[in-house]
Amino acid sequence: MRETRIYLKRGKDRKVRNLYPWVYRDEVRRIEEGDVVADLFSNDGVFVGRGLYSKGARIVWRFLSREYDPIDRTFFERRIGEALSRRIGINSTAYRVVFSESDFLGGLVVDRYNGSVVIQVRSRGMEEVKNLVVDALTSTLNPRFIYERSDMESRREEGLEPVKGPILGGEPPILTITENGVRFYVDVVGGLKTGFYLDQRRSREYVASLVREGMEVLDLFSYTGGFSVYAALKGAKVLAVDTKGEVLELAKENAKLNGVEIDVLKYDAFKLLGESDKAYDVIVADPPAISKRKGERKRILGAVWKLTYNALPRLKVPGHLYICTCSYQASLEDMLKYIRLAAIDRGIPIHIPAVLVQPEDHPYFPHFPESLYLKCVHAVRVRI
Ligand code: SAH
Repeated sequence: MRETRIYLKRGKDRKVRNLYPWVYRDEVRRIEEGDVVADLFSNDGVFVGRGLYSKGARIVWRFLSREYDPIDRTFFERRIGEALSRRIGINSTAYRVVFSESDFLGGLVVDRYNGSVVIQVRSRGMEEVKNLVVDALTSTLNPRFIYERSDMESRREEGLEPVKGPILGGEPPILTITENGVRFYVDVVGGLKTGFYLDQRRSREYVASLVREGMEVLDLFSYTGGFSVYAALKGAKVLAVDTKGEVLELAKENAKLNGVEIDVLKYDAFKLLGESDKAYDVIVADPPAISKRKGERKRILGAVWKLTYNALPRLKVPGHLYICTCSYQASLEDMLKYIRLAAIDRGIPIHIPAVLVQPEDHPYFPHFPESLYLKCVHAVRVRI
């Protein structure tokens, strides 16, 4: 079958020429149906790019190339190879190899944990070329396991069921990774997302740089203890808080794996901050993404305000709050504003010495603003 041909409405080619990688159905004038590979044309028939067609989806086309490249195994090998070449400075055996649109493979996420690979397929178009992707991953990374974690509800918007399961090598065991010299167990089958929050690698290193021997650290929304273990290795007394008992078990194991100990508490982080009157040197607040519903931005910023408002009095002076949001809906400016408002409402002065965003294996591609999703703010409680 030949390629699908998609003709845009007048003027709608501009943003794709500026490298925005998505076309919405209502921007399309006419579709000549063919296979999953789809060529995009302006209203007057000039070629704009080649991509993947997600039939029936709201995002009907996702960018792959500015040329008429054959979309075969070699194409995916080249894209994966280029992505790998941008990630050579990472001091970890686990990192994101492909971050979807930012690595010019919209709809695909590939995470590498030592010799194992976990993929997420988020679009119908990418689903239809999954075999080529798996072949290309096999030849470029030579993995022992390829496991799929496409178990996200958003797949339904593309007419796909959420799925998870082995693709190559059967069911992977609990894996062990080494990140900046710190070791972690990763459960790629039962863990959240693909098993580990690879996007907080730089944050964990940064927060560890604030910690001194004997400090007291509160790690809220700890998951399997990423921040906690780094802090414990610096000699801190750490309390990890999460509502999920099983992740706290793994957090304890992760501490042991590194020859340190942490305390864990199965409790609601919001409640704990409101109730406790203990003071800490460092509080980390890395809440989960709020599901994409109407009013998401307001709810995220409400959470930022509340966490900051309740954390500031729980800090020694000086004491450090490291607070994150992982949704592109709340901008960095928004976040800084709500942190400032919480500090004013509390009457507690703060400094903001650093702002961090997602690291280089989750690249922010500015032509696609939605790709800037993770923002963390370091606020210090100061005395005047
Ligand atoms: N900081 C972690 C990742 C956090 S993921 C790391 O670096 O690895 C978010 C975590 O918040 C999940 O483990 C989830 O179980 C937990 N969580 C969700 N709601 C919570 C709540 N109200 N109180 C405490 N933990 C919560």
